[in-house]
Amino acid sequence: MTWRLAKSLGVLRDQINVQWPVRAKGNDGTIGDERHAATSSDHNPNSADVVTAMDITKDLAHGLDSRKVAQAILDSRDPRIKYVISDGQICSATVSPWVWRKYTGADPHDHHFHISVSADPVLYDDTRPWQFLKAVPAPQPRPGLFSNIIATEFGGSTDEEFSAYDDEHLITDVELGVSLPARFLSPRRSVRVIKGNRSVICPIIDVGPWNINDPYWANGTRPQSETGVDMTGRKTNRAGIDLTPATMDALGIPGPRGTRSTVVDWEFVEVQPPVVAPLPPPPTKEPATMNLFNFLPLLMRILQILPQIQDAMRSGQSIFVLLQKFAPDLISILTGIGGQLFPELPAPSQTQIGGLMMDPVKVRGIQNKINQLKLVTPPLIEDGIYGAMTKDAVLKFQQAHNVVPADGWAGDQTTGALQVEVAKLTPPPAAPAPTAGPVLSLGV
Ligand SMILES: [Zn+2]
Repeated sequence: MTWRLAKSLGVLRDQINVQWPVRAKGNDGTIGDERHAATSSDHNPNSADVVTAMDITKDLAHGLDSRKVAQAILDSRDPRIKYVISDGQICSATVSPWVWRKYTGADPHDHHFHISVSADPVLYDDTRPWQFLKAVPAPQPRPGLFSNIIATEFGGSTDEEFSAYDDEHLITDVELGVSLPARFLSPRRSVRVIKGNRSVICPIIDVGPWNINDPYWANGTRPQSETGVDMTGRKTNRAGIDLTPATMDALGIPGPRGTRSTVVDWEFVEVQPPVVAPLPPPPTKEPATMNLFNFLPLLMRILQILPQIQDAMRSGQSIFVLLQKFAPDLISILTGIGGQLFPELPAPSQTQIGGLMMDPVKVRGIQNKINQLKLVTPPLIEDGIYGAMTKDAVLKFQQAHNVVPADGWAGDQTTGALQVEVAKLTPPPAAPAPTAGPVLSLGV
C-alpha cells in the first residue's frame, strides 16, 4: 500500500527547511513505525492512505527551537492545525482550544515537536504557505562568520593526504588544520572553527573540499558544493570545509576517525594556531589496533622532553624511570598501551610494559639478543619498537626456556634468561680475511 504525506505538511516542512537549511533531521518523521501502527496515531495513514502528522527535530545549535516554532504555528491559528505536541505538553485546536495541557504519552517530545493536521482533506491538502516564520526568524550570523557550513574529515592515518601548501607534508592524526576550496596566497590567515561551545584555531593546510576555486568567503555566497554538484560536475556531500582528525577531535565530534562529518561555523583570525593538537585523553578500554599512529600523540609529547631522553640514552638510564620523573602524565598513556597489548596482566605490569615499549634502548637490546639466538626467521628489525613480531619472538623464547609467565613481555626474568642464552653462544669466528680477487690487469 503506498501512502503519502498530507500536502499541507509537505509545504510546512519545505518552509522549515528553507528557514533552517542545515537543521538536524534525526528526529523528523512522517509515516508511523510498527509501534505507532498499533495505536491510533495520525502517523498511520488514514482511509485514503494519507499521513496527517509530522515530527520536526529540535536543533538548538542551528536555531531551530522546536517549542518556539510550535508556539509560532499555534499563534497563527491556522485552520489546518489539529494539535501540536512539544516538551511534555499538547495544545489542540478543538479540545481546550489553544491552551497547553499536560501530555501523558510515553514520548515527552523533547527532541522534536509533533503536528497533526485536520482530518478534512480540503484542509490537510491545502497548500497555502503557513504564516508563522516572522515569529521565529532565522538566526542572524555575525559578520565575518561563515555559518552552518558542512564539514567533512580529511588527512590522517585513514586518508593519506599531503598538504597543498609549502612543504607538502603528510597530514597527520595529531595535526590541527582545515581545507578551504580555493588557494590562498602566503601568508595565509588562520581559521577559528566553532562547534557549539567549542572552538579551535587552525592553519589552512589544503585546498578543497570538492572545488579548488570557490572562495565563498570572499564572494559572500554559500559554498558552491551546497548545490549538490561541484564545479566539475561531481555529486557532492555539500561540504564547504574539511577538518583534520585532530580538529574533529578538538571539537568533540564523535564517530570513527576518517568518517566524521558535522556542521560548523568558521571565521578568519590573525592569531597563529598551535601546530599540534593538545594531547588527547588517555586511551579508553575500547579495543584499539596497535599501529604507529596510536603512538603519534605519545611521540609528539615525548619530543618535548627529548633533551632529557637523549641524556638518559647516553648514560644508559631507563627511559621509563626518566618519564616517571619528568613526564608523569605519560604513565597513564603507557598503561593504556600496555593494557591494549597485554589485557590479561594486572595494571602495574601494564604500566611497566608501556614503559618498556617506549624505551628503545631496552627494546633494541632484546631484539638484538633474539637475533643472536636466531629465534625467528627472518630476524627482527632492531628498531627499538616493541611490536607484534617482537612480542611473538619473546613469547617463543619464554616457552622454549620455561619462563613463567610466558606472556610475550620481556621483564627482568626474561631479559636475564636471554642474557644467559646469549652468553652460551660461542663467539663468532673472526671474519675471514678477504680472498684476493682477480687482479684487474691494465691493458698493456
Ligand atoms: Zn509524532
